Amino acid sequence: MSKNFHQPTRMCVSCREKEQQSNLLRLSCVDGDIFPYMGNGRSFYLCGSCQNDEKRLSKALMRQCRSSKKEQLMNKLKEIVTDDR
Ligand SMILES: [Zn+2]
Repeated sequence: MSKNFHQPTRMCVSCREKEQQSNLLRLSCVDGDIFPYMGNGRSFYLCGSCQNDEKRLSKALMRQCRSSKKEQLMNKLKEIVTDDR
């Protein structure tokens, strides 16, 4: 296996750091709510450390979803993260 294998990188919407796609959580927004990315529509990425940074995270989610329902978005994200593991 080549060590030069190029991993795609994506930007975390919260901290704007670039990360390997495999280290990021991919989400999408539908009608102001967040869902795990299902293969269509607009999507965005969150890195592992931002998933634990509630303050930053809530801002990023509200911006991505153009929603001000912070509680709803945060609860939904927690559900998604928990389901994933
Ligand atoms: Zn981040």
